Amino acid sequence: MTDGQTRIVIVGAGVAGLSAALAASEAGASVVVIERAPVSERGGNTRFSGGQMTAVGQGGRDGTGSGRRVSREKYLADINQVTQGRTDKALAERFIDGSEETRAWLFRHLVDSGFQTWSRGAELSDGLFGAVERRGIEVLYETRAVGLIERDGRTVGVRVVRDRESHELEGNAVILAAGGFEANPEWRARYLGPGWDLVKVRGSRFNTGDGLKMALDAGAMPYGNWSGCHAVNWDLNAPEQNELEYSMLWTRSSFNHGIIVNQRGERFLDEGEDVSVLIYAKLGQIILAQPGRMAWQVFDAKASSLLSANYRDERSTRATADTLEGLAKQMPGINQGRFIATVAEYNRAVRTDVPFDAATKDGRGTSGLTVNKSNWAQTLDTPPYEAYGVVPGITFTFGGIRIDLDGRVLDVDGYVIPGLFAAGEMVGGLFYFNYPGGSGLTSAAVFGRIAGETAARESQAA
Ligand SMILES: Cc1cc2nc3c(=O)[nH]c(=O)nc-3n(C[C@H](O)[C@H](O)[C@H](O)COP(=O)(O)OP(=O)(O)OC[C@H]3O[C@@H](n4cnc5c(N)ncnc54)[C@H](O)[C@@H]3O)c2cc1C
Repeated sequence: MTDGQTRIVIVGAGVAGLSAALAASEAGASVVVIERAPVSERGGNTRFSGGQMTAVGQGGRDGTGSGRRVSREKYLADINQVTQGRTDKALAERFIDGSEETRAWLFRHLVDSGFQTWSRGAELSDGLFGAVERRGIEVLYETRAVGLIERDGRTVGVRVVRDRESHELEGNAVILAAGGFEANPEWRARYLGPGWDLVKVRGSRFNTGDGLKMALDAGAMPYGNWSGCHAVNWDLNAPEQNELEYSMLWTRSSFNHGIIVNQRGERFLDEGEDVSVLIYAKLGQIILAQPGRMAWQVFDAKASSLLSANYRDERSTRATADTLEGLAKQMPGINQGRFIATVAEYNRAVRTDVPFDAATKDGRGTSGLTVNKSNWAQTLDTPPYEAYGVVPGITFTFGGIRIDLDGRVLDVDGYVIPGLFAAGEMVGGLFYFNYPGGSGLTSAAVFGRIAGETAARESQAA
């Protein structure tokens, strides 16, 4: 596999790697993409995802792909708020400022692949592979990158393992887009902490930190929230490792229309702190800290029409009953008496003087509770009642390596590592503690495209 041809070597075929491949190819470079998964499981977390890309633009959706449109100011304020001011502002501005243009660019590629829009990650992924294949870009499947090759101080290629044999693949530059370490229980326990080895994985089984290890071994600077991750409410009985056919099926993010209780029968977080897209990604961590590392989302009939469609799937871990006592009997392990008392206390605390409005942050909260609910508080009094068993489901890890604004990897002293670029989940410094919905795909696409353009430009100049 060593042929000496001038080219850009890209590791990982998710949205970051494929955006890099398309951008580098458009800039005139020859590109090869290395992907660890077989064709049947290709696409990384991108393929598992909901496909929602939040971008700057006028409110609503304009048909060019799925996801919210927000103002630049709102996007920056959201990422700043959810990261408690820790986000790297220069990096955040870079991807937010590139979001609208990059989404339109992706959309053009998808239209050329026969898609009118994308509403799920599978369509986004298929469209990107279609675009890459049409440009004649080679994708080597079942090929695992394990190390970087450096010559005269420049990263020029990767060592790969294929069919248990080692090969070297060389070019002019390497773009790492191999995801985080969310599918590696040993690294999760090591960096995220005790208990994280036990959580269910929502996305690709191939994102085990290989790209990060290769970069760190080459002297890249660790950056960002290495003890933090995106983790959500996920079905209690979902498989330990998600599969492509289920995609988002096990996600339980309509919690703001009810209450969440632990096995002690107690509430432990503000279910209505903010809109779901601004808090859902931090709740997995809070559930992990509860007894048995699990919780129950509880709703009454008033919330029934507000729950997302996947709650209705027959595979949901759901209990229903016409009384709260009957419901509690179907919630194995819960302190039934305390649960009934918690609902009664909650019902008494709901501020019925404020009108309920599911469409906005309505300010209809509770008052006087140790843990209040800030919005969308409705009494739980209308049967049938429903309870959904949930556990933490990890999406991706926040710790990464440091890049400059053109996608170049920086070393531990802050200098550029010549020939080495990174994008996607591997980029550290964007997300801390929490995450604004729809910014994973967007930041991965923007930084992938930037890395592809920079790598092609610098390789041609070299
Ligand atoms: C269930 C779920 C729902 C989501 N929904 C959304 C959403 O709606 N909106 C949003 O913005 N984000 C969402 N996300 C997050 C989003 O999917 C990721 O942030 C984004 O896809 C990251 O892109 P990436 O290219 O960095 O990683 P990936 O798409 O994961 O691609 C990484 C690739 O690298 C490959 N790889 C790993 N190691 C090696 C190696 N050693 N050699 C070769 N290849 C390797 C992997 O096989 C994989 O294909 C969701 C994630 C999940 C799991």
